[in-house]
Amino acid sequence: MFQFMTSTRIVFGEGALHDSLSLLNQFGYSVLLVTGQDQQRSLALEQYFKQQNMRYQRLVIKGEPLIAMMEELAATGRTFCPDMVIGIGGGSVLDVAKSLAALIPNQGSVYDYVDVVGRNVPLHVKSLPFIAIPTTAGTGAEVSKSAVLQSAQEQVKVNLSNVALFPDLAIIDPTLTYGTDAVLSGYCGMDAFTHLMEAYVCGEPNPLTDMICEEGLKRIAMSILPACRDDHYPSRRDMAFAAMLGGMARSNAKLGAAHGLASALSGRLEAPHGLITARLSPYVMKENISVAMELGRSDVLARYRKLAMILTLNNEAMIEDSVQWVENVLIKLQLPLLSDYGLCNTMFEEVAEDALRTNAIKGNPLPLNQQRLITILRQVCHNNCHA
Ligand SMILES: [Zn+2]
Repeated sequence: MFQFMTSTRIVFGEGALHDSLSLLNQFGYSVLLVTGQDQQRSLALEQYFKQQNMRYQRLVIKGEPLIAMMEELAATGRTFCPDMVIGIGGGSVLDVAKSLAALIPNQGSVYDYVDVVGRNVPLHVKSLPFIAIPTTAGTGAEVSKSAVLQSAQEQVKVNLSNVALFPDLAIIDPTLTYGTDAVLSGYCGMDAFTHLMEAYVCGEPNPLTDMICEEGLKRIAMSILPACRDDHYPSRRDMAFAAMLGGMARSNAKLGAAHGLASALSGRLEAPHGLITARLSPYVMKENISVAMELGRSDVLARYRKLAMILTLNNEAMIEDSVQWVENVLIKLQLPLLSDYGLCNTMFEEVAEDALRTNAIKGNPLPLNQQRLITILRQVCHNNCHA
């Protein structure tokens, strides 16, 4: 038995934003518009609101979504009393907007509803209608039920997660990703890769997420380099599609040790989430493959072999070619190293211990103990320091 959930309505394609503006009217007349700093991207929306005599208030988000900032934004949102929340921007902007849609109609503090440092109480009142419009191809937040927030006090990332948080409408217009710089596109794209890769080899996949992961991985294999390095438009479309598939996969299957370690590291390093997962991926894959060999887990090895075949587009590919593919792409994308962000100065024992408490790591295809996680961190650090 399995179940599958995603956003209620998805509109995908070049020009989707312009063509689906009239869909917004069904949600009401007043809009809380959450954006990044680039006003250009939300101009079409603002013009439409004016044309339709709709009330709107724009909130501009800078940097990471901190819990303290969310409390203030929710208070502002409650005063404005919107019918809907629209988020247009990268992963952080969508996470803030999604959280506001849930928090505004619910009283109390953000800490009541988040995991890790909070009380993780279910939301009492239904969220406001939420419309997600991504401008990067990465997190897949436009089709996921969770938002990641940062607790500055405890230096950890926490999740606000609930089935009520699936967006009511996801408008995915690849033209919004055109012109994004190569490094930002690279770590967003590699985060999408890590969602698909971890969901594909995880302990609890299902036939539908398998299908989604295979298609997403194939598109990333063909398109990540031309999209990020050359701003090649058809490849940008493939990456937007693959990121959406990654969001569906992670919402309906599980993740693994790369995301478990990334969430333990996120409060300690000021590195973007996508960069952390990208740099951890090849070492997590290597460790999983070697444990699967030791334990004779042919089912896990078969998954990694299929992964290698998809990524290299070669039916003769060997298991280790999957790792090689990731390493080659990381070199070609010229992403920064984690040692630049202080990875080598973190306490690996503590990071590994925290990682073992995350939800993500429970999806890893095989249990990895603290020592194995420390080995992964040492290898990333050693390699990064000598690259
Ligand atoms: Zn991720």
